[in-house]
Order: sequence, then structure tokens, then C-alpha cells
Amino acid sequence: MEYRERILVVEDEQSIRSFISAILRVNGYEVIPAENGSQALTLVTSRCPDLVILDLGLPDMDGSSIIKFVRNWSQMPIIVVSARMQERDKVEALDLGADDYITKPFGPSELTARIRAALRHAGGISGGVQEGSVRCGELTIDYDKRRVFVSGRDAGLTQVEFRIVAYLGAYAGKVVTYDRLMREIWGPGMKGGNQILRVNMANIRRKIEISPAEPRYIFTEAGVGYRMADIDP
Ligand code: CA
Repeated sequence: MEYRERILVVEDEQSIRSFISAILRVNGYEVIPAENGSQALTLVTSRCPDLVILDLGLPDMDGSSIIKFVRNWSQMPIIVVSARMQERDKVEALDLGADDYITKPFGPSELTARIRAALRHAGGISGGVQEGSVRCGELTIDYDKRRVFVSGRDAGLTQVEFRIVAYLGAYAGKVVTYDRLMREIWGPGMKGGNQILRVNMANIRRKIEISPAEPRYIFTEAGVGYRMADIDP
């Protein structure tokens, strides 16, 4: 029998919990529902889920304390569910070790794409050091040649631009915060906000996107960071 990945769904609103659970079951996952934080803390240790979907706004505790608890002993993927206008909470959750987030309201395909990306990374793809090449539509990131191609043509990225795209590509499908990207590319000492990152991203988009204002490969997550489209399987 095929192994079914087990997902803990922590959500106090019954309608959303049922909605998420139904999507997951249809997609072949086993669902463990939890309606508050204390249930979640018990189930996360007793049932050993492969992934946690976590609503940040719970009646009995802040969802971020569950992230802290889990990260003391496990790297299991955690996808945070947040309401709109909670940008700071999302960033805090990512800084505490959540892998990704999804904003209400969301659809089934968005949810399952996030889950696949998170489980793929948990399966051992480590960010940063990649070999070979990955494709995403017409975009190819060639990690060996350290070049990016669009429809087979060299996009002519600078080394810094390449490193940004390479890093996002290593986490394709997942959000990468501005802070994390800044640290990764320029080191922890870089001061002066994200301006240098934004300038580089504008240049990257001019080189790889057909219409930089409507990107197909690298999306901006307002107030949080960037997300590269899922790579082709
Ligand atoms: Ca809630």
C-alpha cells in the first residue's frame, strides 16, 4: 500500500477546517484535525504528522507558540494560514521557522501547490547548493554553468542576479523573505533596507519576464518577500 502523508490541520473555524480537510483527502493525504492550540500540541507529538497547516489566530494560544514548540525538536514543514492584513504576523511566523504561508481566502490548487513544495523540501532538497538544471516553463536555471536561459537564450544575468534567481529557484514554490534573501546574497552586515534587492529584481525581471509588470516566474509577496513559480516536475 502506498504511504499517505499525514497532515495536521490546526484551525478553529469549523468551516475552514472542513474545507481544508476535504481538499487534502481528495488529494490522497491523511488528515488529523485540531480545533485549538492545546489539541495541536498533543497531536503533533502523538501522531507525528509529515506536515502542519497552522492557523495563526487560535482561541487558546498564539499560533506562533506552536511554531516555537515544534522547532525545538523537529524540522517538519509548517505552513501558516493567515488572514489578510496580517503581514507582520506572517513575517514573524517565517522568522520563527514556518516554511511558508497561505492567505485566506485560498483555493484548492494554491493549497496543494504549497504542500507539495514544502514536502519536496522536507524530502531533502537543500537550498543554495544545487546541481544540474531546473526548468520552469520557458525558464531554465543551469546551476552548473551558473546561467539562466529563457527559451534557450542566455538571459545575461550578472553574478548577483544569478545568485538571487538560483536561491529562489532552490526554494521554488515557497516564499523567501526579503531579510533571508538579503542575508544570503549580501551577508548579515548589509545595511540600508531592501533597496538594493529591489533594484536587482527589477533588472532580473527585465531580463527574464516578457512583461516585468506581470511576472510569470518570480512573484512579489507584498511586505514579505519573493516566490518563484513551481519548477516543472
Ligand atoms: Ca482562527
